[in-house]
Amino acid sequence: MQKETLIIIGSGPAGLTAAIYAARANLNPLLIAGNQMGGQIAITNEVENFPGFDSILGPELTEKMRVQAERFGTRFEFDEVLEVNFTKGPPFYLKTYGQEYEAESVIIATGASARRLGIPGEDEFIGRGVSYCATCDGFFFKNKDVLVIGGGDSALQEGIFLTKYANKVRVVHCRDSLRASELLKARAEANPKIEFVWDTVLESVNGTSKVSGVNARNVLSGQVNQWDTDGVFVFIGHFPNTQLFKGQLDMDEQNFLKVDQFMQTSVPGIYAAGEVMDPIYKQAISSAGQGCQAAISVERYLESLHDAELPTAKASK
Ligand code: NAP
Repeated sequence: MQKETLIIIGSGPAGLTAAIYAARANLNPLLIAGNQMGGQIAITNEVENFPGFDSILGPELTEKMRVQAERFGTRFEFDEVLEVNFTKGPPFYLKTYGQEYEAESVIIATGASARRLGIPGEDEFIGRGVSYCATCDGFFFKNKDVLVIGGGDSALQEGIFLTKYANKVRVVHCRDSLRASELLKARAEANPKIEFVWDTVLESVNGTSKVSGVNARNVLSGQVNQWDTDGVFVFIGHFPNTQLFKGQLDMDEQNFLKVDQFMQTSVPGIYAAGEVMDPIYKQAISSAGQGCQAAISVERYLESLHDAELPTAKASK
């Protein structure tokens, strides 16, 4: 059993910022990064709203944060947390593929994952025309026609990115107005390769060895049409990665972790930051800010934990 002062789970902006602060506070954090470094931001093309950077690629921003965290002494493990026991402790128990740990405190920054449409053909064609990441897969759609599903910032930002490769990008939205910010709306509307299809939802993704089309239903008329397309990029929001903590930490009705104003979960010593606890703001910068708050709170928590141990230590001398 490896003993740690602080384990941070997750390597997106929340986890990496928590690591920078915790390492600078001499907490000697161990960050369990998952299989690859970075959360959603690492698969985002351009980030234009992170203060201090006019425009920076998502992977580059992640790498800068990682280097900064490492410079102050953060240790990284490329592994996945498989099991936790937060019902007893501190110390709290965590198990990964490679190791078992006892930690005095934990910051959960496991982020969120892309929601799926849940329609026939979607799962079957993942990697063969269905994608949740334009930055990762856009290149494979050179001179092709693709659909982007969703009406939020991700749909438009990723749709605009796809026009670098694709001939035509149809943004298919279930309503007749977009949720996305005005800036992205204006850019998408001005892009000659982007076309909007309103009040429409997909009913199935079709193909044989790869995607060749979809069935799309107009929600007003009920009419279903078959469209030809080479790719379906789905950007319909995210769900928090909290499955691991079910039954151990309090969550809201959408499964986001509940935290207090100190970013502490329902278990003292276990903190959370970023999209795993934030159903509202969901920005790289807000996640980073929450990571900072969580790390500062952990520092104070550990101080009080160790202070509480002092009288016992003195008494035993
Ligand atoms: P989002 O804002 O939740 O938008 C999801 C979109 O998908 C909405 O338009 C929603 O429709 C639609 N949708 C949901 N379920 C659907 C379904 N089953 N079928 C069809 N459409 C469905 O998610 P997001 O765009 O991923 O953005 C998440 C957060 O990240 C937001 O806070 C956003 O501001 C932020 N973000 C920011 C940037 C940036 O600043 N550049 C870039 C990317 C993301 P309704 O509109 O009817 O709800």
